[in-house]
Amino acid sequence: MSEQEKLEAPVDGDWPPEPVGQVRVRLLTPTAVADLRGPTVCEVDTPEQAQAQIDKLGPDPQVGDPVANEERFVAGVRKRNVAIALLLMDQAVVSGIGNVYRAELLFRARQNPFTPGRELPEEVVRALWHDWVHLMSIGVETGQMLTMDDLSPEDLARAMASRDDRHWVYHRTGLPCRVCGTPIAMQELGGRKLYWCPVDQA
Ligand SMILES: [Zn+2]
Repeated sequence: MSEQEKLEAPVDGDWPPEPVGQVRVRLLTPTAVADLRGPTVCEVDTPEQAQAQIDKLGPDPQVGDPVANEERFVAGVRKRNVAIALLLMDQAVVSGIGNVYRAELLFRARQNPFTPGRELPEEVVRALWHDWVHLMSIGVETGQMLTMDDLSPEDLARAMASRDDRHWVYHRTGLPCRVCGTPIAMQELGGRKLYWCPVDQA
């Protein structure tokens, strides 16, 4: 613990930055800091326990065989009588989508968030997976959860600078849909706020 405390001691006035929000874990080096905010679960495991948890996780676009990953996702979604917006947040179905990407993926696919997985056509589920792979690669490249494609250079600069200009529906309750102008709806689902357009995603 003393080592950790020593690292936490500010080298100067700016380092390390103050934690913002519900920080449950902070990984800190002399030059970098990573905060884990608001996780559903946060526990300290042995290596064996950690591996058992990893074995339970659904596919991750950045890990393993791309074809096998897609098939696991499609099968995992299409056998469940659970809303797709909940399945996308289920770590056993797919790893790491999180609240921003679930709202944005469903808008981009123009899918009703409440449709049960097993009622979704196979091609829709495959398209969701491919879009997740696509958005994830943009996220890794840019370091931002950028979910709007084909932006003009000015719009891209704005999106990179401001979260409010980066998303279709996420965090836009009551604001006009960027496509149809309908106010964006919001409701708690799975303990997290879900955003969607009631017209484009009817
Ligand atoms: Zn709309």
